[in-house]
Amino acid sequence: MIRAREHIAAMAPYALADLQPPPGKRLISLAQNESALPPSPAALEAGAAELAHSALYPDPDWSELRDAISRVHGLEPAHILCGAGSMELILCLTQCCAGHGDEVLSSQYAYAFFRIAAAISQADYVTVPEEEFMVSVDRLLDAVTSRTRIVFVANPGNPTGTRIGNQELARLRDGLREDALLVIDEAYGEFADGEDGQTFGLVKQGNTIVLRTFSKAYALAGMRVGWGLFPPGIATEVRKLLNPNNVSAVSQATCAAAVVDQAHVRKACRITAERRDRFAGNIRQLGLSVPESMTNFVLINFASPAAAMAADEALKAEGIFMRGMGGYGLPASLRATIGAEDDMQIALEVIAEICLKEGS
Ligand SMILES: *Cc1c(COP(=O)(O)O)cnc(C)c1O
Repeated sequence: MIRAREHIAAMAPYALADLQPPPGKRLISLAQNESALPPSPAALEAGAAELAHSALYPDPDWSELRDAISRVHGLEPAHILCGAGSMELILCLTQCCAGHGDEVLSSQYAYAFFRIAAAISQADYVTVPEEEFMVSVDRLLDAVTSRTRIVFVANPGNPTGTRIGNQELARLRDGLREDALLVIDEAYGEFADGEDGQTFGLVKQGNTIVLRTFSKAYALAGMRVGWGLFPPGIATEVRKLLNPNNVSAVSQATCAAAVVDQAHVRKACRITAERRDRFAGNIRQLGLSVPESMTNFVLINFASPAAAMAADEALKAEGIFMRGMGGYGLPASLRATIGAEDDMQIALEVIAEICLKEGS
């Protein structure tokens, strides 16, 4: 019988959300950080128009999409690569730059897919502790060895929601060897744009990549489009690993129109942030801790793993699915995506009732 290669057989599958509501209950998914608000109507219209041309392969150079992104962000189109979600870019850049005997470095509560990408690439995955759910640049720098090839920082982070300043990222870059790649995953970057400028300038040094996605603020997770700003030399190599027609024509047209509609995405981010801060404030009033989030989700820290489990079960009984954090070593926490206003109210009431019962 054919056998999978040893390092593949040893891998745990990527844990996706379990979303089965009890009979008769509507599913309220707060588990995948999908947008609570709809995508740009102009984007949907552009995608629908492109559907008619589906007999043809998509543009392998993502020309229209790259032009739109570069105009909005003031970037060089040739330095942008587009992926089937930023996950494709994370995987391919890891395969490109790290392998057996190399180390991929990240922090304690870093996005789980970094570990998977390292495992697929047969590199060792190393993490350093966070401080109060924040990435520590000092600890990352202390953990660098001669084998470190890639340092991943999701900023803002998932599942913490917290963000370190761009000055800190610049300090991290300055402290790394020239031949170690820094990958800044800004999947939630749009929620923090305007905080303290942009990180795209770091890419010029030739050893940094900045990733973004249409899955979160743009409300287009189903389109599977991510993009990154790459140093030209690395872009050429990573591109060899991408599926040559990785982004469908409908997805390219949709996302090109979405990025141009900045008014829409800015408004969506503002409404989401207001709703998030209200929800987080209400949860804190129950005596639970919630790190300051700069994303479309919050991490709720309960008094104990038992309390988190009781809340999770009570929420599921109402059809509400948050994400359990046991896989991240946070069994007393649940991650809640900011959803519709009414659904957040139901979630708050269920959690308040559990807190009363638990006396926490
Ligand atoms: C959601 C998410 C991604 C993946 O996004 P896709 O573009 O949908 O593949 C990447 N990084 C982080 C930190 C995320 O939360």
